Amino acid sequence: MPPRTSSRPLPKPQAMTKRPAGRSPTASPRAGRRLLASYAAKRDLARSAEPPAVAAAATRTARRTFCVQKHLAHHLHYDFRLEHRGVLLSWAIPKGPSTDPAVKRLAMQVEDHPVAYGSFEGVIASGYGAGIVMLWDAGVWSPLDDDVDAALVAGRLSFMIRATKLNGRWSLIRTRRPGRPSWLLIKVQDAYASRREVTSARPHSVNGSVDFPAILAREDREPWPDGPPVGGEAGDLLRSIIVRARRLAPRRAAQR
Ligand code: MN
Repeated sequence: MPPRTSSRPLPKPQAMTKRPAGRSPTASPRAGRRLLASYAAKRDLARSAEPPAVAAAATRTARRTFCVQKHLAHHLHYDFRLEHRGVLLSWAIPKGPSTDPAVKRLAMQVEDHPVAYGSFEGVIASGYGAGIVMLWDAGVWSPLDDDVDAALVAGRLSFMIRATKLNGRWSLIRTRRPGRPSWLLIKVQDAYASRREVTSARPHSVNGSVDFPAILAREDREPWPDGPPVGGEAGDLLRSIIVRARRLAPRRAAQR
């Protein structure tokens, strides 16, 4: 089974060719509009606050959008996204990234997202991913592999991140468990490696350090007056966030 959830297969590995430094592969216009069909199919985009399923032109520089979104939905997880060929390649990381090179974090590849998703922070009121999305880290990334498509097919991608919280060299390595799109995110040893758990040391948004209650309190209307849209541990967490959000937005709560 292919490692990707997108309906279009990845290009076949090509012979490695040398490109001038600082340039990424220039995708054809067709390749620049990779299908976001899976993204669109999972959501009611007419009702959701999430960005539309529109692919951007493939970037022609080495500076590609990078972001991590902390997403409290059925389970708390971190969505790790790398811009490539006009979309954001995406992995859901249950425990979040670790800056400790000795720690490998499971990263499940999920459907490609629009590049515009890289700045999304807000509430998904209902449906797929219902919950709160925090923009936990944002910046740029650049591949250390000559051919990103070939590296993805081979299941071994090396890259640099320059962002607010994550920096330096990283690797994504596909595990050989057949039929599962599972990868491992690993920090490569360098000056940015640290054994400090970055997700707990820096839990808030890159947008003014807001937390989940503050993001929820920004909504014009309470999305869940009858309680959280998910159950279990995530539901309990969300319930306490709803209470704290009401304290932050008392006027809105009074309108209920
Ligand atoms: Mn998610």
